[in-house]
Amino acid sequence: MSYDLVIKNAVVHTAADTFASDIAIKGEKIAALGTDLKTEGAKVLDAKGLEVVPGGIDVHTHLDMPFGGTTTADDFVSGTTAAACGGTTSIIDFAIQKKGEELRTGLETWHKKAQSKSAVDYGFHMIITDLPENKVKEMDKVVDEGVASFKLFMAYPGVFMSDDATIFRALLRTKENGGMVCMHAENGGVIDVLIQKALAEGKTEPKYHALTRPMTAEAEATHRALALAEMAGVPIYIVHLSAGDAMEEVRRARERGLPAFAETCPQYLFLSYEDYEKPNFEGAKYVMSPPLRPKGNEDRLWKGLNNDWLQVVSTDHCSFCFHTKGEKPGKEMGRKDFSKIPNGAPGIETRLLLLWKAVQEGRLSVNRFVEITSTTPAKLFGLYPRKGTIAPGADADLVIWDPKKKHTISVKTHHMNVDYNPYEGVTVPGSIREVLVRGKRVVENGKFAGTTTHGTFLKRGPRSTKMLDSAAASARRPQLEEVIK
Ligand SMILES: [Zn+2]
Repeated sequence: MSYDLVIKNAVVHTAADTFASDIAIKGEKIAALGTDLKTEGAKVLDAKGLEVVPGGIDVHTHLDMPFGGTTTADDFVSGTTAAACGGTTSIIDFAIQKKGEELRTGLETWHKKAQSKSAVDYGFHMIITDLPENKVKEMDKVVDEGVASFKLFMAYPGVFMSDDATIFRALLRTKENGGMVCMHAENGGVIDVLIQKALAEGKTEPKYHALTRPMTAEAEATHRALALAEMAGVPIYIVHLSAGDAMEEVRRARERGLPAFAETCPQYLFLSYEDYEKPNFEGAKYVMSPPLRPKGNEDRLWKGLNNDWLQVVSTDHCSFCFHTKGEKPGKEMGRKDFSKIPNGAPGIETRLLLLWKAVQEGRLSVNRFVEITSTTPAKLFGLYPRKGTIAPGADADLVIWDPKKKHTISVKTHHMNVDYNPYEGVTVPGSIREVLVRGKRVVENGKFAGTTTHGTFLKRGPRSTKMLDSAAASARRPQLEEVIK
């Protein structure tokens, strides 16, 4: 048998190991690993001096999403092109159920947005906004269609927020259908009161976005979410965890043996509250929820990533331009009222670059880098071992780094359809040279070389208890039956 492509002389990093190997690819799959693999009839890519990791999996993106009186700047075409250039080969985006709508209708809307418009593989989580008892079984149908995770909100009253009964109903159902609930954990009721109070006092600048969303509002909701999941006897995944205090809740739950998981995002590791105080309304660029936290908080999150109190780094990519452009109002909308600034920031392209920098600076091991950006996301969301590792039989989703060529992040060179970059000027000691998605080179010599029709829909299986067990290897976890008695 001859291979289609052989990557020679690579240093390969997985979540478990670092080793020297050639990687042979046949069709869309990795066919073999080993030294001196036969190259007759195959293309050869010499990776001497380069380093190879599994393609990034970003399980939290918002593309082509209407929100806050506008629509995100990136759709699937620009968003997934940027993802590919940043070494992310699979994303899981959020399909939204409108209130009163069947879950499947919302899902179909998102299939239309993504189909034949994606450079990388994509799956969906289903956002639930409305779930009376008679609709609960609709969740099972969505799981059957390969969308085995649901997002609920404890924030944004009147828009996305669910009450505890709705959340509990959804959690209970995941016990039947094998889905997993992803939670936006902030106390929306309290935050709303604080926002109204601030505005009534004439406090309108961007920094008040953060000052009306205290850490305690996140820690309280995180605690409540974990308690609801414990009572339902199911795993739970906390999205975009920002506050050290909220992380403590996750740590305590895991130490008690509960299947509790959480992601954080680069913005909470690399930016801070101080960015809101930039002059000329620049602080609006960082308005996202939860907000950036004061300097020092990020040290707690780094510690959490290294101790497995946090398991994943995703982006929560939700881009809005600073300036209003065409029919999409930008951050400027909120010049006179911080509560009207569209919530969200771009990051789909910069996640791996920033974390690679952290590896070079000694804040993470390269194997932990692979685990939090690819392997664990794949395990938690039903994609492993097809994705998330470098092994025979896995999809040939690979990122090849050039450790000698620096990369400086800038709005001038990024591929996201947004007029600023929150990490402008940050220099990464290394750059992404090649990216493969299912065997196809989508980045060649640092340049996008893919097509926006290559990405396919990832039908994900229900969560596997086994996978969750291995993902929670460090947690002392009793059987669920013991937990719910
Ligand atoms: Zn989000």
